Amino acid sequence: MPAPGQAVLRVALGAIVANWRDLVARHGGACAGVVKADAYGLGATPVARALRDAGCTTFFVAHLTEGMTLRDAVGPGPAIVVLDGFPPGADGDARLVPVLNHLGDVAAHARAGSEAVLHLDTGMARLGLDAKEQAILAEDRSRLDGLTLRWVMTHLACADEPAHPLNEAQRVRFAAAASRVAPGVPRSVANSSGIFLGPSFRSDLARPGCALYGINPTPGAPNPMRQVVALEAEILQVREIAAGDSVGYGASWTAREPRRIATVAAGYADGYLRSLSGRSLGLLHGRQAPLVGRVSMDLTTFDVTDIEQARPGDRITLIGGPGNSPDDIGARCGTIGYEILTSLGRRYDRVYEGG
Ligand SMILES: *Cc1c(COP(=O)(O)O)cnc(C)c1O
Repeated sequence: MPAPGQAVLRVALGAIVANWRDLVARHGGACAGVVKADAYGLGATPVARALRDAGCTTFFVAHLTEGMTLRDAVGPGPAIVVLDGFPPGADGDARLVPVLNHLGDVAAHARAGSEAVLHLDTGMARLGLDAKEQAILAEDRSRLDGLTLRWVMTHLACADEPAHPLNEAQRVRFAAAASRVAPGVPRSVANSSGIFLGPSFRSDLARPGCALYGINPTPGAPNPMRQVVALEAEILQVREIAAGDSVGYGASWTAREPRRIATVAAGYADGYLRSLSGRSLGLLHGRQAPLVGRVSMDLTTFDVTDIEQARPGDRITLIGGPGNSPDDIGARCGTIGYEILTSLGRRYDRVYEGG
């Protein structure tokens, strides 16, 4: 039960599991669960447990510490891959799998006899062995002696733009490099959007993250995924204001006629970004209430003039619902659904449903 005035974040674990199953079917091959950044802000422990119970056997995190926490959450079975890598032994007895991102990583983990994932950069220039290092490794594969390579991976830069020529360029570069450097090692290519690029981007293991959480992996086309998140916050007061009255900090919005304003107990400290000021809406009794004035730290104001039944104690949906998905909200304030999710706050009552 939420405390009075506390916002509620509903996370539909059943929808996450259904999204994962759907991605497995579309990929036509295995899918990991990417649960870095606390499962994109939704809670890595409940999310990973639900996916594990549905049959997911591999998880990806970004940081070593995320991997350690996740091991406690999911138990000894699943493979946990750490995208940023870590020095040999730094995982204690958590049995995490490091991603090897450059030749120094390869050397260190070869000496230690690690299980590992080898990352070949094919067009991202972020992490992963670059073309020069790939050539060195292809010349001298004994540098891999001692390693047990679970997968060889690459990461697509433009998978959410199907027509972008870099997709095909990366596919071709990776196919060539992987057969020279790590022949016979299972391959991992697609993120969420990559799964939708078609059968030539199929690999032994896809790595979907955002699509599990309801973000549209096919921007520009209808979202094929189920929605997962709803953020509901309580109306603390409803007041009548007169023509000419302004609302909130900076008096950034002024009523042209008498209006009813609902003050809601959530703000930018809850991840409801300040850049949404004057540009978003909440859903209440099946209707849309425009956000008016600035989002402040703990409070946000909505125009509920047209929603007569709006009362203090009602919960208005700030994120989620028709026309109000994390993608929609990101688009209103110059960012993407991923950032809306990873910005979600810590003081909600988090309710996990289904699973
Ligand atoms: C974050 C990440 C993913 C998941 O990407 P989505 O777009 O969220 O599906 C996959 N692979 C790597 C290397 C990543 O960093």
